[in-house]
Amino acid sequence: MKTLLNPEYIQGKDFPILNQCVNGQPLVYLDNAATTQKPRKVVESLTRFYETINSNIHRGVHHLSQEATAAYEDARSYISDFMDAGSGYNIVFTRGTTESVNLVASSFSNFLSPSDNVIVSVSDHHSTFVPWQQACLRTGAGFNVAFLLPDGSLDLEQLYGLLRKCHAKILVLPHVSNVIGKRNPVKEIISEAHKYGTAVLVDGAQAIAHFPVSVKDLDADFYCWSGHKAYGPTGIGVLCAKTAWLEKLPPYQFGGEMIEDVSIEKTTFGALPFKFEAGTPPFAEAVALKVALQYIKGIGFGQIEQHEKDLTRYTYHQLGEIPGLKIYGSEEERDDLISFNIEGAYHYDVGVLLDQMGIAVRTGHHCAQPLMRFLGVPGTVRCSFALYNRQHDADRLVEAVRKAAKMLL
Ligand code: PMP
Repeated sequence: MKTLLNPEYIQGKDFPILNQCVNGQPLVYLDNAATTQKPRKVVESLTRFYETINSNIHRGVHHLSQEATAAYEDARSYISDFMDAGSGYNIVFTRGTTESVNLVASSFSNFLSPSDNVIVSVSDHHSTFVPWQQACLRTGAGFNVAFLLPDGSLDLEQLYGLLRKCHAKILVLPHVSNVIGKRNPVKEIISEAHKYGTAVLVDGAQAIAHFPVSVKDLDADFYCWSGHKAYGPTGIGVLCAKTAWLEKLPPYQFGGEMIEDVSIEKTTFGALPFKFEAGTPPFAEAVALKVALQYIKGIGFGQIEQHEKDLTRYTYHQLGEIPGLKIYGSEEERDDLISFNIEGAYHYDVGVLLDQMGIAVRTGHHCAQPLMRFLGVPGTVRCSFALYNRQHDADRLVEAVRKAAKMLL
């Protein structure tokens, strides 16, 4: 496997957490779809913020508050550029993908009635599936599900049939499935959905750190992601949405920061994006998130995408040679994660054995129980890659899975 990236160097220089032993073995961290590790610069950025300009934003006339406000708003505009959002979009800071989707589902449900329809995908994470399921139950709107083909890709024929039939108000789908790892052709899907007046919410949690995303080019109505999956801190996420939608949607939460004027009789709400940012936002985290995205840019998506794809392809083939090992989804259009099971062994037991060999993977339903039911399994083992993973990590994983299979069968 050829790589232009030097993950060995990157691990040593930027990710001290990876240079440790777990259960007596050098750690191999392959749980990046759950959360990525943070480069030193991101950790330092948080410390620097608290040591130099920490102060609550927007309401202060004093120096520190103005510095903190400028840094927060600068992070917002950096993120807008990072996503190629352009002037038709707004960036709302949230706590993560989960809150971004809940915000949209909760506000959007004001426009749903029993004659309306919503379409989700069976591969949606619970954080996108459940808010829309609940919105439909609350409003009586029809809840429709797009399914997958045997190779793990979205069944576009069925999805387009649903769009034609029900002219849904909104379609919700992941850019990359956190279980199957397939990249959905969202640009094509959005263009099809718009023909029927259907808005599209894309869950970009497994996309944003792995390849360049242009929301403008995709023409997505809503695009959601979490900072902690993109080498940034926890507690911060992004909702990038078309301004026209955000103007129409009512506020999601009420409180400080989001108002224009409050009297006993009534409240008028602030301008965008503040109307959706009630309370003290995660301002230190926003600033550190910008540093994380700068780190990604510094390495370059060209290299990151190629490296992770090569590593995933390599691992896919190596794992595929293990007798009795079943991988979910074909190799095509696969990004940076692989879900598998050893037939006859319980996913949890495999995970425990891998941990004993120093390898961190995730086991279970991955917050995607509708997909597990569709696949007919209670859970899977999932390995997921980031820019700092090496071929050596993949080799250690494959060797450990072989050992685990021998021990369990
Ligand atoms: N969507 C996908 C595809 C995910 O992988 C995850 C996290 N596993 C989420 C949404 C939820 O992200 P968070 O918990 O950061 O809100």
